[in-house]
Amino acid sequence: RTPLMIIKEALSQILEGYKGEVREEQKEYLNMAHRNTSRLQKIIEDLLSISKIETGKIKFNRYKTDLISIMRNEINNQKIKSDEKKITITENFDRDTLDIYCDGEKMQIIFTNLLGNAIKFTPIEGHIRVSMQVNDQEIRIQMDDDGPGIPPQLCDKIFERFFRISSTPLIGSPSTGLGLAIAKELVGMHHGKIWAESDGIKGSSFFFTLPRYKGKDYLKVYFNDRIHEALDRELNLSVLRIAVEFIGESIKNRVKSEFSKRIFLDLKELIINNLFELIETVMLEEQAEIYAFSFVDGDSAKILSKKTQHLLEEYVEKNKLQNQIKIRVISATLGENGNSCDELLEWIYQAKVPTSDRDSAS
Ligand code: ADP
Repeated sequence: RTPLMIIKEALSQILEGYKGEVREEQKEYLNMAHRNTSRLQKIIEDLLSISKIETGKIKFNRYKTDLISIMRNEINNQKIKSDEKKITITENFDRDTLDIYCDGEKMQIIFTNLLGNAIKFTPIEGHIRVSMQVNDQEIRIQMDDDGPGIPPQLCDKIFERFFRISSTPLIGSPSTGLGLAIAKELVGMHHGKIWAESDGIKGSSFFFTLPRYKGKDYLKVYFNDRIHEALDRELNLSVLRIAVEFIGESIKNRVKSEFSKRIFLDLKELIINNLFELIETVMLEEQAEIYAFSFVDGDSAKILSKKTQHLLEEYVEKNKLQNQIKIRVISATLGENGNSCDELLEWIYQAKVPTSDRDSAS
């Protein structure tokens, strides 16, 4: 990658006249060289991605990520190419942001490939539409283009490595036949699906889905990912369990009420805005708990627990809720006091809030 970037940068500087005046004829040749370094760059990126996937070296870094801003950025990044062909790109999103638990970098690669193809195959003055559907279980992204389409019997095959439809003219565009294979692997890593639909006459539609995790399912995938991240980066990992007890009535009745919803949101906001050591909080309303994660060691986790307890008690007092709710914060740290991954997992999934920190209980 690096030598290629240096070549490209050197060509840019000469083209922009920083190294002296450039004649028109020279410019033409330099432009050709510049264009082709970009093509080579795309080919190298594809080959590197596929080899990382094949050797299992690809890192998967999922966090809550706004998918809409990733898509909008990419539409902007490819604007020069779409403007050149006077292509209109229509966004059909029913909201401004959409937080999804995914690896943002991987999402960008998927979207770059799909949009790149759509622009490549759409004729001059054609249209591309990007739309999104969201339901409780998943989100679905759809990209329609005005290109020549794909023979229906090849709609699956195009996701195979190095597969290209030989009849499609690929004027001036880099082509490795790897883009869609990479996209398929990356969507698969997210437990989503990707496919294409076309009548082979006019236009193609590409779809991909991503699951939406909620409650306990979210807690599970989030916690598993952080364990892997902590082990990979040699970091500590601590978990805080913030249990809210509704006094007097059974949790079940109170937990569903507007009152408890408001309290949960307030507490979550307080925690996020005040405790910067925390990387994420997961609310489990059905269990009247908030889980908070941090890459700190056991001692710091205990201090953090105390700080959290103090902060939340202040909130209770300020809102005169002493007779209605009680808050308890406990912590556990991976690798300390015999907390193996499995033990910590067990501790975290216990439906009933343990009465003490994991370390003093063991
Ligand atoms: P590349 O674009 O590098 O050749 P891809 O894996 O991205 O590789 O695509 C594989 C093949 O699928 C392309 O060569 C092309 O024949 C076909 N294809 C992909 N996207 C489209 C599209 N939007 N319209 C028509 N054909 C497409």
